[in-house]
Amino acid sequence: MILGIECTAHTFGAGIVSKSRILANARDMYKPKKGGIVPMESAQHHRDVAEIVYLQALDDANITESEIKAIAFSNAPGLAPCLLAGMEFAKRKASELKIPIICVNHCIAHLEIGQSLGAKDPVLLYASGANTQIIAFVSGKYRVFGETLDNGVGNFIDGFARYTGIPFPGGPEIEKFALKAGKKERLIELPYSVKGMDVSFSGMQTKLRRLYDSGEDLSNLAYSLQEHAFAMLVEAAERALAHTGKKELVLGGGVACNARLQEMCRLMCKTRGVKFFCPEKSLLTDNGAMIAFTGEIMLKAGIKQKPEKVDIKPRERTDDVDVYWR
Ligand code: AMP
Ligand code: MG
Repeated sequence: MILGIECTAHTFGAGIVSKSRILANARDMYKPKKGGIVPMESAQHHRDVAEIVYLQALDDANITESEIKAIAFSNAPGLAPCLLAGMEFAKRKASELKIPIICVNHCIAHLEIGQSLGAKDPVLLYASGANTQIIAFVSGKYRVFGETLDNGVGNFIDGFARYTGIPFPGGPEIEKFALKAGKKERLIELPYSVKGMDVSFSGMQTKLRRLYDSGEDLSNLAYSLQEHAFAMLVEAAERALAHTGKKELVLGGGVACNARLQEMCRLMCKTRGVKFFCPEKSLLTDNGAMIAFTGEIMLKAGIKQKPEKVDIKPRERTDDVDVYWR
């Protein structure tokens, strides 16, 4: 039994995995009263709910804590106060239970969880709030083939939503508005910015706000936002597939819950003869199960960090990680 703790941003999650099977995936999400995430508030949230979420996970998995053999926690990348709160909890439990800690990179966990669906060597399109990256394993490392040059796609969508008065998280609401328009003739041309395999959203953000201020219908804007932003992501992902020659695409991150993004990926994969894997919603958004799942893979490869070496790495890059388990 491996316990996985997710703590990089707004979600405190506790997942339990045994032999690649997910037995529990409990979580609690911090929701700011107003505006975006306040890191110190989110960290306090994690401290407040940690024990409750942990007990929930034990209950869901129907195990006692003495059965846990290791604790994996997401030590990177993320908001430092949140990572610290997660590490405190992981260290306390590890010392109480006298078991090892495994440090897991959050972005890589989004990719590895694809294995639970059968993906062996995929390209990951990771579309979350703060992160937007296209990642694949090449020459001994997870490499970032493309990424956002400004905002993560989720933060970009939330930022526009907030401008129109929709509270965080705005993504699901924008999706509903987009469905109301949902016709090609409603498409408004917006800045489309793909540079190699990198993307950028600030030009589109400015244009969307201007159009909103001039009275343009929000559902038309939401629809056009999705069509442009997701096409950019899918174009970059396709380029990474072509470049690496890989035959699998995995989606990850909260924005991947969006049905239109999933549909665009499915279409692109079909025309390229690539297998498409989209984890269920509970595994797409930040969660402890993917951390436990990745931790188990790492543990099997024989890695145990010394407790005094365990630390947070708020700015760790995906390609800085030593991938000893592949
Ligand atoms: P994460 O950072 O991976 O936990 O995901 C959170 C982000 O996903 C937030 O920016 C949400 O607005 C976004 N999100 C969640 N559901 C949807 C959706 N259906 N469409 C677009 N974005 C979404
Ligand atoms: Mg994430």
